[in-house]
Amino acid sequence: MSASVKSPWVLHYDASSCNGCDIEVLAALTPLYDVERFGIINTGNPKHADLFLITGSVNERQVPIIRQLYEQMLEPKVVIACGICACTGGVFKECYNTLGGVDVAIPVDVYAPGCAVRPETLIDAVVEGLGILEEKRLLLAAKSLKPAELPARPSAADKLVQGETVAAAWQKAIANALQTAGQEEQ
Ligand code: SF4
Repeated sequence: MSASVKSPWVLHYDASSCNGCDIEVLAALTPLYDVERFGIINTGNPKHADLFLITGSVNERQVPIIRQLYEQMLEPKVVIACGICACTGGVFKECYNTLGGVDVAIPVDVYAPGCAVRPETLIDAVVEGLGILEEKRLLLAAKSLKPAELPARPSAADKLVQGETVAAAWQKAIANALQTAGQEEQ
């Protein structure tokens, strides 16, 4: 077993969480659940991290940030979507500005659902993630780990809301506003 699996370091990023899931991530790290006793350390540096824990749904502006953090992490690495918002978009899934869960931006290895995700679920997800990390480490050592492909860059303008794209709805709203303004001037 490698040092990274015995003592994995985690990078925690809040995409657009309501902070409910972030509090649970912190609860897992602090004395009540105390994952640090297993050697799991929270780091602010993606270059030091083995596990990427992300909370909250993803909007268009966050995609390049999440990708930049992901690309700064060295292989092998594992991504864990924490909470239902990070898994699928959750309650924000239908919002015009929400693209979905973390997997619209980067590949996700483990999904930890819940609203908010419970620390026990996070610990289970980390344990599952460590198994994947070890598999990836062995593949890397054998020089057969293929870099994960990033999903196609999503666009909020193309998102369908009630049968029409966000871009079309905006154009219609602007045209209506201009027409109303023109009528008021007459
Ligand atoms: S899953 Fe629930 S608690 Fe977590 S960020 Fe979404 S709304 Fe908040």
